[in-house]
Amino acid sequence: MRIGIGFDIHPLVEGRKLILGGVEIPYEKGLYGHSDADALIHAICDALLGAMGKGDLGRYFPDTDPQYRDASSLTFLSRIKDLMEEEGWRVGNIDSTILCERPKLLPYTERMVENIAGALMVERERINVKATRGEGLGSIGRGEGVAVYAIATVTR
Ligand code: MG
Repeated sequence: MRIGIGFDIHPLVEGRKLILGGVEIPYEKGLYGHSDADALIHAICDALLGAMGKGDLGRYFPDTDPQYRDASSLTFLSRIKDLMEEEGWRVGNIDSTILCERPKLLPYTERMVENIAGALMVERERINVKATRGEGLGSIGRGEGVAVYAIATVTR
């Protein structure tokens, strides 16, 4: 068994959709980035790549590549699944914490789990998504962005 960690952060700006875990969440702002800026999926991809010892997401999907502009990050996760299969790795479990002041994410976390489990083709019991607020502290607490920590185990 091996363990990997992932972290991602994106600013919240007007004129963008807010997409986390492949779920479009109604809100006045969205995450800024080259792809759909799904910080949860990015952190999970990095945790899985880290566990496999395969570098980071930017190695496979550079943010300078026009084909990934506004791309759904779930397609990145599907590609990571393919890479895992090629290398003989299986997902042990994935845990994650989203730091987000607004909006409330609890109504959406189960759908995020479904999307992540679906892209990786694993049982949903292996995936966990938590959300917490910044309690007014720092840039996250001021609602300027969303950050995500993820951890993953893989086995073979
Ligand atoms: Mg990112």
